[in-house]
Amino acid sequence: MMFSVDEIRKDFPILTREVYGKPLVYLDNAATTQKPQCVIDAISEEYCSVNANVHRGVHFLSQQATQLHEDAREVVRNFINARSTAEIVFTRGTTESLNLVASSFGEAFLKEGDEVIVSEMEHHSNIVPWQLLRDKKGIVLKVIPIDDCGRLKLEELEALLTPRTRLVSVAHVSNVLATVNPVKRIAEMVHAHGALLLVDGAQSVPHIKVDVQDLDCDFYVFSGHKVYGPTGVGVLYGKEALLDRMPPYQGGGEMIARVTFEKTTYERLPYKFEAGTPDYVGTHALAVALQYVSHIGMEAIAAHEHALTQLAMEQMRGIKGMQLYGETDDKGAVVAFNIEGIHHLDLGTLLDRLGIAIRTGHHCAQPLMQHYGVEGMARASFALYNTKAEVEALVAGIERVRRMF
Ligand code: PMP
Repeated sequence: MMFSVDEIRKDFPILTREVYGKPLVYLDNAATTQKPQCVIDAISEEYCSVNANVHRGVHFLSQQATQLHEDAREVVRNFINARSTAEIVFTRGTTESLNLVASSFGEAFLKEGDEVIVSEMEHHSNIVPWQLLRDKKGIVLKVIPIDDCGRLKLEELEALLTPRTRLVSVAHVSNVLATVNPVKRIAEMVHAHGALLLVDGAQSVPHIKVDVQDLDCDFYVFSGHKVYGPTGVGVLYGKEALLDRMPPYQGGGEMIARVTFEKTTYERLPYKFEAGTPDYVGTHALAVALQYVSHIGMEAIAAHEHALTQLAMEQMRGIKGMQLYGETDDKGAVVAFNIEGIHHLDLGTLLDRLGIAIRTGHHCAQPLMQHYGVEGMARASFALYNTKAEVEALVAGIERVRRMF
């Protein structure tokens, strides 16, 4: 069932503002999404009337805050269809979730010569933690190449998998090409070789229905701020049996069962991985955001964004000198491009003057830029509140800029 974009837009106060006297056309949603009023209210109301530190308090407010925080864990569990809340670890975001796995899984399961495989289209957050581990432990980092349409070469993955492969870590959806990687198929390939699969869901959770049991991935990570939730809160999903065997990531409050100077024992899952005061207001607000998108329906959101992306691609193809990156049919809500003779930074700056916010640069995917032989790209990315008129404004804006050169 479709939804009314006009009605949806009323939920997002920022969308009524102007920049340089022009209506804001916000097309930088892959970097972060805007927040609906219900998320903003959830944060404000919790600080106004509930705020107290969670878990350790016997008093009323602490128990109420704890309840909201733990209810949020159940909302996340349900949203991605994990088996148990023990499998839902709250983190600061995708980057921290990835570093947690690299550090803790690396500590427990990886030794010199073991192999981790990433792909050529990964965000730096899914490259650098593995390089740090390579420096520390002497693991081998291998890379799945892509074709020029932006598809992973799965036959090359097959060839890269060896008895020493321990983990494959790939994006579900690329933040540049918007390729939707066949992670279910990849999980089968990886498991057939006795290795594990980590999926970076930063760009998928906001756009498509994710079911971690159906995908059968071993870890799944995402950020709250890209799915209409607050900044500073994210999720690590991991299969319970696996998380159980991994050592803590950080030490401190919340993650302990008992501390003496001689020996400390750790809390049960998921608390073992949650040292220190969590962002309990953020987790509650994230749950409100997930309930908001669930209410609209992920299928309806995906269909709306797909239509916008197709329209953008179609119209942009007609622009002289246009180079589009990522041409798979089922791609997600991102259009990355360059225009011959115009630097992407100039393009972004001039579009900004027209009120159109896009992102330019390497998009934290420098190896991918190297694949295409460019230093950077322009990128427009869509969300549930974007309209066809905004896509048209983008296309008209690009034409206008192009004529200046
Ligand atoms: N992975 C992907 C695919 C991303 O798009 C991003 C954000 N651009 C990240 C990881 C990092 O997310 P965060 O900055 O929220 O940790």
